[in-house]
Amino acid sequence: MRPLPAPLRAAARRVPRTPEALARLIAALPKVETHLHLDGAVSAETAARLAADAPGSPLRGLPVEEVRRRVVVDRPRAALPEVLAAFGAFYPLLRSAAAVELVAYELLREAARQNVLYSEVRFAPVLQAAEGFPPEAALDAALRGLSRGRADFGADSGVIICLLRPFSAVSREDNAAMAALAVSRAGRGVVGLDVADAGAGDARLADYGPWFQAARAAGLGLTAHAGEAGRPGELEDALALGVDRIGHGVALRESPALRAEVRRRGIFVEANPTSNLRTGAVSSYAAHPLKSWREEGLAVAVSTDDPGVFGVDLNHEYEVLARELGFGPEDLLEVAWAGVESAFVPAAERRALAERFEERARAALESPFPAGRTRSTSERPRRP
Ligand SMILES: [Zn+2]
Repeated sequence: MRPLPAPLRAAARRVPRTPEALARLIAALPKVETHLHLDGAVSAETAARLAADAPGSPLRGLPVEEVRRRVVVDRPRAALPEVLAAFGAFYPLLRSAAAVELVAYELLREAARQNVLYSEVRFAPVLQAAEGFPPEAALDAALRGLSRGRADFGADSGVIICLLRPFSAVSREDNAAMAALAVSRAGRGVVGLDVADAGAGDARLADYGPWFQAARAAGLGLTAHAGEAGRPGELEDALALGVDRIGHGVALRESPALRAEVRRRGIFVEANPTSNLRTGAVSSYAAHPLKSWREEGLAVAVSTDDPGVFGVDLNHEYEVLARELGFGPEDLLEVAWAGVESAFVPAAERRALAERFEERARAALESPFPAGRTRSTSERPRRP
């Protein structure tokens, strides 16, 4: 990763480290979100609206607050499967072109609201597919929503196709079809390939190797969910796939050798602090290893994973970094910069994204910040 541009670093050092100044900086800071599931981004309001048109949905006819109570995982759960169960309420609502397009569109509205310049939106089109609504149509619907979102809100995006394991949950054939779809749309909306968990059970990441090789040959970026719930061998397998980024990677905390390898290869970690807390991968925000990873020289970007499921946004995750992990202005800028540097975009687009980032970050850093608590106006020496 290229270092954060020096003028931005210098300007960040002048921002006071008060909670007020950091909150203002976070809101104004340009950001990039790279680990974001489309099916995890449905807000309770939108779920309630979609459920009104879904005859079989258990959420149909419920007030928004009740929908929120049922679908938002707002406190830590014992394990990942409990959180995956929350997705069960969303899937039946997303099996139409109109619904997928709407959720993709609203996702960019939320991005623009938070100064997120570029979002990478991932999903597994076979999970949205239904009778008369094939996976290709689900992808097209998402791309339409993102394209309309760009026109209306000015926020850019790319799609990552999410393969799923184990094969007992999503068949080898369905995974092969999704991988082929990703390759066929490479450079036309699709920017990367991922593999995520669709439920308990075993399927080695190595089984996905041929699809990852084909994606690489087509110019797609590669990432994999690995080391989230601590299955042994997962991170080694992800590295063997040749990934550019690792989703979560919490289990890296157990292996200095793997961290050294990740650093040596310049692999980015997509960290999702609130998601990791709510799924039980970390015991508290303060126990999240991302701070020590950065101190060791790993490149770490931060995302929400599932803003709808967890009821958070990206600004919240940056606030967590500031409040719970002691990140100052410079650290926050570096995390945002890691998002720019890790984005699955061609070189020319990365240059353009970096330029926009620098321009917007400069403006965010130049706006006047409230004086720190330690030097309020009443404490300043009076003029004689
Ligand atoms: Zn994820």
